[in-house]
Amino acid sequence: MILKNARIILEDKEIKNGWIEIEDKKIKNIGEGATTLDGTDLNGKTIMPGFIECHVHGGYGVDFETGTVEGYKKFAKLVAQEGVTKYCQGSVTNSRENNIKYFGAFKEFMASQTEPAAICLGCHLEGPFISPEKKGAHELELLAKPNEKDMQELIDLSGNNIRVVTYANDLQDGSFTKFLLKNRIIPSMGHTPTSYDDAMRDYKLGAKHCTHLFNAMSGVDHREPGLATLALDYDDFLVEVISDGIHVAQPVLELIYRAKGPKQICIITDAMNAKGMPDGEYKLGNLDVVKKGMRVALKSSGMLAGAGATYDHNVRIYHSLIGMSLVELSWMTATNIAHQLGIYEETGSIEVNKLADLVVVDDDLNIAMTIVEGQVAFQK
Ligand SMILES: [Zn+2]
Repeated sequence: MILKNARIILEDKEIKNGWIEIEDKKIKNIGEGATTLDGTDLNGKTIMPGFIECHVHGGYGVDFETGTVEGYKKFAKLVAQEGVTKYCQGSVTNSRENNIKYFGAFKEFMASQTEPAAICLGCHLEGPFISPEKKGAHELELLAKPNEKDMQELIDLSGNNIRVVTYANDLQDGSFTKFLLKNRIIPSMGHTPTSYDDAMRDYKLGAKHCTHLFNAMSGVDHREPGLATLALDYDDFLVEVISDGIHVAQPVLELIYRAKGPKQICIITDAMNAKGMPDGEYKLGNLDVVKKGMRVALKSSGMLAGAGATYDHNVRIYHSLIGMSLVELSWMTATNIAHQLGIYEETGSIEVNKLADLVVVDDDLNIAMTIVEGQVAFQK
């Protein structure tokens, strides 16, 4: 497959007009200028690395907690329309019974991804190891202190497919962090009122990922700094940002960008099953929620509960706010998280011999086409 007459966003520069040749799953060649080779004329549209989302719970009516392989496959197909080529499927706090059902189906799904669709890299386990004080929409009775025994059980149930774990670092002594690292799982501090010192201990152990910065943690207090201060202050610390303009106010999105720069941010949605669906009433676990536009809130209190925005929406919001170059934007949507997940050698930037995980966008960053490992998974 040849894509030609395109603007191409490489990791360190852009090609104003060029072409990409794809063979099987990989990028075989990248050229500047016109080509006489037969191919798809993109009419000046832009090719970026496919978006990699490490934190999403569902969408298009599919709730990951429902635990069906068909549901997971449907999501993988439909999320490609957001430009997403790879993602981690988020799980929320569940009963043991539900976890057995959920992770059983998940394990089966992980072993059977074949169609042209976005590819699930594994699970982002968000709960039960979080703090009751910052539990968000998670169920209080089901929370647990971070512990190796329960964690090992979940690893086994998932078929060793857990990639990221959000945990309250202040509820353990560092041993849980070491356990995750030993199992090649990314420890992500979040859903915690942790003190700065407690967070620093785990950071020094190697916890260098932060779950949805500013959400479900203390803010930046000048006398009682916590996780947010540490996350903003240290350069080798990747922060997830829900840039829908709802979960983090726009001036704070600007603040995060200025403090961290484009190499230490990864855009996420944290979206739930109502994403991509019409406005109306939905369920988040056992809770009744209402979706209106990109906002999802508890029916009872109006409190935010999960998110309803698509990945491309969040990309457009952050870009319109900062106006960073598309090279820098692509670090925030693909390259940074590819490094973090340990898949940078294969994907996360446009380079010869890497997987052809690509998204084609128009001048307003609307998605025109998504290519996953050389196959068209979405075309407008
Ligand atoms: Zn989440």
